[in-house]
Amino acid sequence: DRIFKGTTKMREKLGVVDELLTYWTLEGTEDTLEALEESLIMADFGPKVSLQVCDDIREKILAGKIQSGDDILVELKSAIVDTLIQKGGSTELKLGDDKPSVLLIVGVNGGGKTTTIGKLSHRFSQEGAKVMLGCGDTFRAAAFEQLKKWCDRSGAQMGPFEEGSRPSKILYKTVEQAMKAGDIDIVICDTSGRLHTNYGLMEELKKCRRVLGNKMPNAPNEVLLVLDGTTGLNMLNQAREFHEFVGLTGLVLTKLDGTARGGAVVSVVNEIGVPVKFVGVGETLQDLQAFDPVTFVDALFP
Ligand code: GDP
Repeated sequence: DRIFKGTTKMREKLGVVDELLTYWTLEGTEDTLEALEESLIMADFGPKVSLQVCDDIREKILAGKIQSGDDILVELKSAIVDTLIQKGGSTELKLGDDKPSVLLIVGVNGGGKTTTIGKLSHRFSQEGAKVMLGCGDTFRAAAFEQLKKWCDRSGAQMGPFEEGSRPSKILYKTVEQAMKAGDIDIVICDTSGRLHTNYGLMEELKKCRRVLGNKMPNAPNEVLLVLDGTTGLNMLNQAREFHEFVGLTGLVLTKLDGTARGGAVVSVVNEIGVPVKFVGVGETLQDLQAFDPVTFVDALFP
């Protein structure tokens, strides 16, 4: 998990920063900071974070703590890492003491939710855990079959499914079945890829969260929002809304391997105060990495 193989495009986009800092002089500070801010905005870090980072650097320069472009790079990286750590908090997945731990996975269609569930399931299975998947997506045709495929590939079990049932009921029954089975360590609950603007569907999602809590006191242990990395700053509104309605505990940034816009996730963390826990870097079972702010920022600014 030490290397982010999915950061090539971001690194390309940010390559200009290195060049910029190489030519920094004290007199040219304002020009450098302006260009730096622009570069960060181009990589979708968002205006707020980009400005914040540059203000941080300016402060250090004025305080005489910076002697070279390399010093600026160190400060730049630590400003981004600090934002991720201080605003987001722990990136560790929180599992419960009682079996099973329950994860509720939410996000809009096409963002990579099903794939992420398959990857998570694989990851837990590899670690020796017994996994059950719950299909709370009753809106999309063939959602069950699709999830079942990932289930089989990752060696998990499938929870009960009933065409026409409410998602909340299916997920409730899934956790119930896992509790009865006794040996299931983790239940991963898929939900409908509802449009976040659709109020009725958001209500159903809230209900899913509530009924899981009724079944088990600490469930869900995590509510993870899957965000499509290629959407850049558009993910900000989505994250705000999901957080307001269901209360998120973590983020999964997908498709980082195909985008130069992943910087947006720093804006999301800064804005809603929820940490990134995993990053998707490809389409296979293995392509999920635990998120670590320092490793991430090191990969972006080598
Ligand atoms: P869902 O509608 O949110 O369940 O999305 P899916 O899991 O079906 O994924 C949508 C598409 O994104 C599929 O073609 C996946 O292969 C692709 N995908 C998901 N995660 C990643 C990722 O991390 N990297 C890449 N390159 N593709 C991904």
